[in-house]
Amino acid sequence: MDPIINAILKPKSIAVIGASTNPDKIGYKVVENLKECGYKNPVYPINPDADEILGYKCYANIKDVPYVVDMAVVTVPARFVSQITRDAGEKGVKGLSIITSGFSEVGDHALEEEVVQIAHEYGMRIIGPNIIGVLSNSDKMNASFYNYLPYEGKAALISQSGALLIAMAAATYTRRVGFDKMISIGNQADLDFADLISYLNEDEFTTCITLYIEGIKDGPRFMEEARKCKKPIIALKAGTSAHGAAAAASHTGSLAGSAKVYQSAFEQAGVAQADDLNDMFDQTLALSLQPPMKGDNLLIVIYGGGVGVLATDAAEKYGLPLKFAPQDVQEELKKHMPSFGSAKNPVDITGGAGLKGYYEGVKYAYAHPWVDGMAVLYCETSVTDPQEIAEAIYNALHESGASGKPIAVSFIGGERCEKAVEWLIEHDIPTYNAPDLAVKALASLRKEEIMSQNADNNFFKPENIDSEKARQIISIARAKGRAALTEVEAKQVFKAYGLPVSPTALAHTEDEAVKLAEQIGYPIVMKIVSPDILHKSDAGAVKVNIKNEQGVREAYKLITDNSLSYKADAEIDGIAIQEMAPWATEVIVGSVNDPTFGPTLMFGLGGIFVEVMKDVTFKVAPINEATGLAMQSEIKSSKILQGTRGELPRDQKALAKVLAHYSYMVHDLRDEIAESDANPVIVYEDGKGVAIVDARIILTKK
Ligand code: ADP
Ligand code: MG
Repeated sequence: MDPIINAILKPKSIAVIGASTNPDKIGYKVVENLKECGYKNPVYPINPDADEILGYKCYANIKDVPYVVDMAVVTVPARFVSQITRDAGEKGVKGLSIITSGFSEVGDHALEEEVVQIAHEYGMRIIGPNIIGVLSNSDKMNASFYNYLPYEGKAALISQSGALLIAMAAATYTRRVGFDKMISIGNQADLDFADLISYLNEDEFTTCITLYIEGIKDGPRFMEEARKCKKPIIALKAGTSAHGAAAAASHTGSLAGSAKVYQSAFEQAGVAQADDLNDMFDQTLALSLQPPMKGDNLLIVIYGGGVGVLATDAAEKYGLPLKFAPQDVQEELKKHMPSFGSAKNPVDITGGAGLKGYYEGVKYAYAHPWVDGMAVLYCETSVTDPQEIAEAIYNALHESGASGKPIAVSFIGGERCEKAVEWLIEHDIPTYNAPDLAVKALASLRKEEIMSQNADNNFFKPENIDSEKARQIISIARAKGRAALTEVEAKQVFKAYGLPVSPTALAHTEDEAVKLAEQIGYPIVMKIVSPDILHKSDAGAVKVNIKNEQGVREAYKLITDNSLSYKADAEIDGIAIQEMAPWATEVIVGSVNDPTFGPTLMFGLGGIFVEVMKDVTFKVAPINEATGLAMQSEIKSSKILQGTRGELPRDQKALAKVLAHYSYMVHDLRDEIAESDANPVIVYEDGKGVAIVDARIILTKK
């Protein structure tokens, strides 16, 4: 556990620099909130013009405080922050929480960097600037200018938006979603999401980490810390629309990466994504209170009514389709319900079972080894008391002898239900006001388990690669002033990373072309090789299925003519002579350098699938072969690869290997490759491999 971050989040003493006697000022509010919310450790207001504020003795300068100061909250105007930071450093303060705004978010990057640099000189770390502050229930510490600590609980929120943090803190009371900590992270000038995830992973008061993200500064480090984190992480990423991304970028001065890349990065790092604010709260409730769901067997217990049907639909929708309970479970459950009940799944105990039937049914079912997770759904009736039902559920679980399995509950009804819901949540049982939400909560807990199993095995380095050779090819091209490699050069780079490129030779004359064609064997393909013509077909500079010498000579002339009429001053290296790969399923593999996460692999089927349907999937590189296989089933047109309409399945294993090697290549050469693709890659029947027939690499600007 980082001692400096610990000093900021769990300080043994706090100074408020810029503390004010004016109740309208933030510098007053922070002192007031520390006092009113019950912070027990010493508080030192710093203000040269006051003797005391709210009963705390004031000091003119932080350096005058005769005691150890763990953390200083800074509320003075931006122009004084550098000096304040130096004073705090000299005093030996461990960390700063800088509430003050007016830094990078308004374009003043230099001031922000200066402050961080001064802090680092003294070994201090900074949270902020431009924040609300830090709130923690376990220490009754409200070091912020929002009046209340959040509703008590076990989650921790890190929010990039201060205003939203205040609203969310207030909303925790009506939603009954409990947080131990709320941390406003602002400009992330120093401490960022990754640092705080790493800290909270070891914090005994945190069971789940919730993030409101506008932009991440260092994508790979975020992924690394998220992968290492053993606790569930839920992220609500704002700025997923093009317009939203622009708003987020100007808001916090950070770059919002493309939504799809964020989504993949989260998945790869085991971070659950929330659809919206409601979903963020709903998932936080479940993940902060319940363990992950180890298997797929979801049992739904209902108390009569249509909720069972709604829950069944939801189970399918959220990826946990219901199965019938095994025979022994059904027989036992039948003992606790009237004859018109149903013991299948959903198990309908019915209103006729009474409180005892409900208790016995839930208790037996929860303990049964077949059950991996359980949803209990109740509708208010005229004959039952919601509070009694709530207590029966709680007692049944605790007296069942089982543990380590998640449960989620839904109560539909009026005011009496509200009270019972509150009681259940206070007893660590996530309870919702709709059956589909309880089921969705269990689906999140199931997903959490699956993600935690997959998250850390993503590192991959293929054997027998020759990066030296690849770099040599690139540096020769750079020496010629090239911004991109030709197909022939790009294929050599691909080959150095073990990718199966179709054999390609370069002819400089018609006669040489004929000779090479005969060596390779007909039919062949001929293409222009020019750094100025990257899309060769557009220039009429690709001829396929050439069967003899005459064809080679005709194609040579035609390709040369077409290329020159496409671009009169095109620099021409020659004409590529290539083995004609038999036709099969065409796919595209490509890469971009995402500004946040770095080299990112793209995969999709060729032709209209990618151009019209945009049916592609992304992964942050590098990936292993298992993820390469997963990518193939993520696209909508995945059936085509699996074999459909009497066609045999394609060689998905060979394709997975290509994806893994390709991802390593773009990761390894991330300083050289800005963008690349293999389009098309031809995928043959299972066992028959793949062929890369075209290759393109755009170099980074240096
Ligand atoms: P570009 O993408 O620059 O237009 P390609 O090299 O991809 O040029 O060639 C265009 C099309 O020709 C490919 O999409 C593919 O269908 C076909 N093609 C190219 N090379 C081969 C080859 N070696 N074997 C079989 N078909 C090929
Ligand atoms: Mg192509």
